[in-house]
Amino acid sequence: MSVLVYVENAEGKFKKSIFEAISYAKAIANQLNTNLVAISIGNVATADLENLGKYGAAKVLTINNDQLKSFVNQAYASIIAEAAKKENANVVVLSNSFSGKGLAPRIGVKLEAAVADGAIELPQTDGGKFIVKKTAFSNKAFAMVEMQSENKVISLTPNSYKVVEDGAAATVENFSFEAKASDFRTMIKEIVRATDKISLPDAELVVSAGRGLKGPENWGMIEELADLLGAATACSKPVSDADWRPHSEHVGQTGIAISPNLYIAIGISGAIQHLAGVSSSKVIVVINKDPEAPFFKVADYGIVGDAFEIVPKMIEAVKSLKA
Ligand code: FAD
Repeated sequence: MSVLVYVENAEGKFKKSIFEAISYAKAIANQLNTNLVAISIGNVATADLENLGKYGAAKVLTINNDQLKSFVNQAYASIIAEAAKKENANVVVLSNSFSGKGLAPRIGVKLEAAVADGAIELPQTDGGKFIVKKTAFSNKAFAMVEMQSENKVISLTPNSYKVVEDGAAATVENFSFEAKASDFRTMIKEIVRATDKISLPDAELVVSAGRGLKGPENWGMIEELADLLGAATACSKPVSDADWRPHSEHVGQTGIAISPNLYIAIGISGAIQHLAGVSSSKVIVVINKDPEAPFFKVADYGIVGDAFEIVPKMIEAVKSLKA
């Protein structure tokens, strides 16, 4: 028996969410008194693979060929399921990233496993049970999911488990896999970047604005603050509906769900549908001129005032800190 963690890379590099997933998977391996194996797909430098030992992966399997250069859901799921079988792993952990969301159910079907997506804590294993806490109903509730089948697939919500560094270098082994035509039913032909800015789902800091900004011409200060902080920009639904900002920035129940370390909400009322996508942010700062705005109820820090006065002051303050 072992635990397998899929270590997704972005252009050959691992993000913090992957170190979180390894640390989480290692803690599960400790709970089950077993070892942790990682599987990497695509082109990653050997030194970076060995480095994964630091977070708890004793062994890293790696597979790379031309067909696997870009993410292919079916093929990646087949490889991860095959690696789980070969390693006798009955728990598979991955990050609940864009690709993790597509992979978890596919791996679940291949391994006839129970699937818990969006886990936020270590499983409770008292009395031989295996219960995972996860978010439900667009982050409005928690669910305690008892995983009853022998095989289990768990995807971890980014930013919900801390990175632990206490291991040595991992051993790296090549993994071979006989792909079938059905593994490549869809192929990515080309990736066209919509923007060079920080991608919203991966951002640790997010500056977001709503209808309180009055119009698209006022987003200059939002972008300037975000650039200074190294943050991504986001917006409420009416803002993207009105074409003030692109739909890729819309967060909430019907937009992207995010959980950054810092979410700064400017001129956003805090409707329940907006909160559904942002309430699991670690620290929430709300700037709103209405002291009764519902967003203040979930804010860690609140500033009651006019965004057009406060944001320029914040920009100056950040600039002077950087100077
Ligand atoms: P408003 O509600 O108009 O709020 C503007 C805020 O700005 C107010 O609180 C006001 O006090 C403040 N303000 C005004 N001027 C200033 C100023 N100068 N300085 C500071 N503050 C100022 N919404 C989402 O965001 N995401 C979703 O995914 C989403 N999904 C939905 C799904 C459904 C099925 C439905 C019915 C609605 C959904 N909505 C969603 C819409 C949601 O209900 C709200 O209408 C929306 O979030 C409001 O956006 P807002 O806060 O930008 O605008």
